[in-house]
Amino acid sequence: MSDGTCGDVVKWLRILGLDTTAKFHNPAPLVLKEAISEDRVLLTRSATIKELGRERVILLPEKTMESLHKLKEAGFLQGATPFTRCLVCNTPLKDIAREEIRDRVPPYIYQTHTEFKICPDCDRIFWSGTHVENMLRCLKNANII
Ligand SMILES: [Zn+2]
Repeated sequence: MSDGTCGDVVKWLRILGLDTTAKFHNPAPLVLKEAISEDRVLLTRSATIKELGRERVILLPEKTMESLHKLKEAGFLQGATPFTRCLVCNTPLKDIAREEIRDRVPPYIYQTHTEFKICPDCDRIFWSGTHVENMLRCLKNANII
């Protein structure tokens, strides 16, 4: 779980397919309480929140890739399966037949891609385009995966 200070890290953890919730607008004590009740660690860049939650809280550095390295070293990136989780709502994606989404993606995308995934919760459609390749390259270059 992340508070409002680690939105960039949340995005990348979901790209990696890791179950990552976010509470960007709730007060810190409430976020910490939720993290504990859901048996999650809390990611933050606030030393105050680190002090509040101690071993339950991971204090991350300012830079995104340094934060991911810290999480990798702590073992939190094990089991990463990139692009298997909705980047918006954290729900695991499901495969969907190309024909079923024909009217929901741009014609060029439909013609040039054969595999699509859908979020069963928010109904967004995902496909593996150049943006995916770029994100994977970025993770590999940073030695995250
Ligand atoms: Zn979703």
